[in-house]
Amino acid sequence: MSNPCGCDPVEAYCVKCKAKKNMSNAEKVTMKNGRSAMKGKCPDCGTGMYKIVGKG
Ligand SMILES: [Zn+2]
Repeated sequence: MSNPCGCDPVEAYCVKCKAKKNMSNAEKVTMKNGRSAMKGKCPDCGTGMYKIVGKG
């Protein structure tokens, strides 16, 4: 299920909806410890969501 445009939806867990959602406004951020994460919002309730991505 690869996406040629490289803009795959980022699935993350919403603590408010208690369900996995495809986060909206997903953007890649680098945390202080040097790891990368995806940061976005729940499309349903707007709660901030984070997903740690591996390396890079
Ligand atoms: Zn939510």
